[in-house]
Amino acid sequence: MTVSERIEQLKSEALSAVASGDSTAALEAIRVRFLGRSAELTEIKKSIGTLSPEERKEVGRSSNRASREIEAALDSRTEEVAAREREERLREEAVDVTLPGVPFPKGHLHPSQRIIDDVVDFFVGLGYRVAEGPEVETDYYNFTALGIPPGHPARTMQDTFFVDEGLVLRTQTSPMQIRTMLAQEPPVYVVCPGRTYRRDSDPTHTPMFHQIEGLAVDKGLTLGHLKGTLAAMARHVFGEDVQIRLRPSYFQFTEPSVELDVSCFICGGTDPGCKVCKGAGWLEMLGAGMVDPGVLEEVGYDPEEYTGYAFGMGPDRMAMVKYDIHDLRLFFEGDLRFLRQF
Ligand SMILES: [Zn+2]
Repeated sequence: MTVSERIEQLKSEALSAVASGDSTAALEAIRVRFLGRSAELTEIKKSIGTLSPEERKEVGRSSNRASREIEAALDSRTEEVAAREREERLREEAVDVTLPGVPFPKGHLHPSQRIIDDVVDFFVGLGYRVAEGPEVETDYYNFTALGIPPGHPARTMQDTFFVDEGLVLRTQTSPMQIRTMLAQEPPVYVVCPGRTYRRDSDPTHTPMFHQIEGLAVDKGLTLGHLKGTLAAMARHVFGEDVQIRLRPSYFQFTEPSVELDVSCFICGGTDPGCKVCKGAGWLEMLGAGMVDPGVLEEVGYDPEEYTGYAFGMGPDRMAMVKYDIHDLRLFFEGDLRFLRQF
């Protein structure tokens, strides 16, 4: 076989390899095999100097032509294959915008927090300010300033956590009423939500629980204002149809003191077998009253000029009633199966 014949052979081998090359990687390997530095065709070109002058001209021309043809075939085939590969990649990576998205898990508001938000929203709507205060409180703010001096029997009724000499975990949010009044002149319209603590644990008591208290001090405030405010609040939280009633009661720092019941919003008082009101038709909801003039004096307000009312409620208990939950301890066990129901 002459050198020229060998060149023709190599060329047709290369062209058929190119024609069946089906990836850019395979075509690159073909390029190295037929046109690379140690390819046979390259070796032939390098050896041209050793040939006779007639052969040299002939072999030079045919080897160059073979290189150019293989090169051109490789280029056009590579372009074709690369385009197909790009298309395939795009198809594989394409996002189907018609598929439903991956849902993010949504949190749930704690039932107590729902009531707190609801009540606070209502009072903010009336122009009340929200005041939050320390959960570790001094003996003075938690007891003495509220008419419960050292040695008073009411102290033993509130199973207190003592932190240090003169420091307690607040047993009520009432200290915020004192702090608020000491910090400003009347008129005062404030609502205080927060955590409170007592040494107590059974189906209706937990060592930590929530309270919301409210305080209004202004000229000419009466029990009528208190009743109207609380009636509107009860309708906001429990529904437009609820009725309220006030019963006389006793609290340390209000005089007179009342307890407020709301009509059963489940049965409306018509079902003797109602599980929520036990057939009574009424649900105990909160304690309230006119601020004792002694408390006003304690903070430097003139009880001849100003009167006030205060109220305190337990949002945990309100949530138990509203959502028909029978064990308060469920609220604080952190069981997601419980929370997911709300
Ligand atoms: Zn009922």
